[in-house]
Amino acid sequence: NRIDLEGDAIHFFSESAQIDLDERLTVEAQLRRALERGELRMVYQPKVALASGRIVGFEALLRWQNAELGEVSPVRFIPLAERTGLIVPIGAWVLHETCRQLARWNAGGARLRVAVNLSPRQFDQKDLVPMMQRCIEETGVDAGCLEFEITETALMSREVEVDALLHAIRALGVELSIDDFGTGYSSLAALKRFPVQRLKIDRAFIRDLGRDEDSAAIVRSIVNLARNLKLAVVAEGVETEEQLAILRGLACDDYQGFLFSRPVEADVVPALIEANRAVLA
Ligand code: C2E
Ligand code: MG
Ligand code: MG
Ligand code: MG
Repeated sequence: NRIDLEGDAIHFFSESAQIDLDERLTVEAQLRRALERGELRMVYQPKVALASGRIVGFEALLRWQNAELGEVSPVRFIPLAERTGLIVPIGAWVLHETCRQLARWNAGGARLRVAVNLSPRQFDQKDLVPMMQRCIEETGVDAGCLEFEITETALMSREVEVDALLHAIRALGVELSIDDFGTGYSSLAALKRFPVQRLKIDRAFIRDLGRDEDSAAIVRSIVNLARNLKLAVVAEGVETEEQLAILRGLACDDYQGFLFSRPVEADVVPALIEANRAVLA
């Protein structure tokens, strides 16, 4: 009986593994064509100053709408794009599209800021920095309005090699943020050495603010760490007024989250900024 059960379990497992594999191959085949078919687009989520309530910038987030698969979450397709190397052309498209959009928004003299996520797989791209440089020149975007977000895990897993690359990227005049901060294992020495301007506190700690005292203590430590290193600090994933109140008490600089706004389509951004101005005026 036990043997039968085990046999069944093994059979069941391999069947679902096969389905997983089929699904993965389908998604991969579709993703390979996503760029040429124009299925990718960027959406933008505002970052807001805690003290003033003013929109201080946006994070550009990739979306993939596929006829067969529907809207696929980046949580699913970014890791696949990284595994297959597709992240290199996709990442180049993301940067170009975002710069083009940013240049258009700022054409009238505005100084909107936008952050783009960078994958560690893009670090291996030989011409990453020249590609960024070309993108900035071709779109005419002000490099000072552009920022790159790199996860703490990505940075710390390749601490030594990444240092020179970060300095080269920073030399373009853009700013750098450490994304999902608090989930990796940063050495203080690395944090001090890396040419970054901002820490983004991982959503997991913000989610538990007000529910669990450890999270509040962690958030407080990160804010203090940022202060001492003269870095700005942003809280991601703020969903409730209670979380916002706690963050205000901790003197966090900026926040981002569904409470203020979900990521929006590019054509909604000007109206969002207008509405924000009107409320503050
Ligand atoms: P991330 O860079 O940490 O981006 C923040 C994610 O949190 C976004 O998910 C955003 O929609 C979500 N978020 C923002 N506020 C809230 C909130 O209040 N509650 C909740 N539950 N979620 C919130 P999204 O757009 O699904 O992206 C997931 C991840 O995929 C990103 O995490 C980033 O690691 C990756 N990603 C997205 N776009 C790109 C891209 O263009 N390039 C690369 N390399 N990675 C990207
Ligand atoms: Mg990010
Ligand atoms: Mg993040
Ligand atoms: Mg994240």
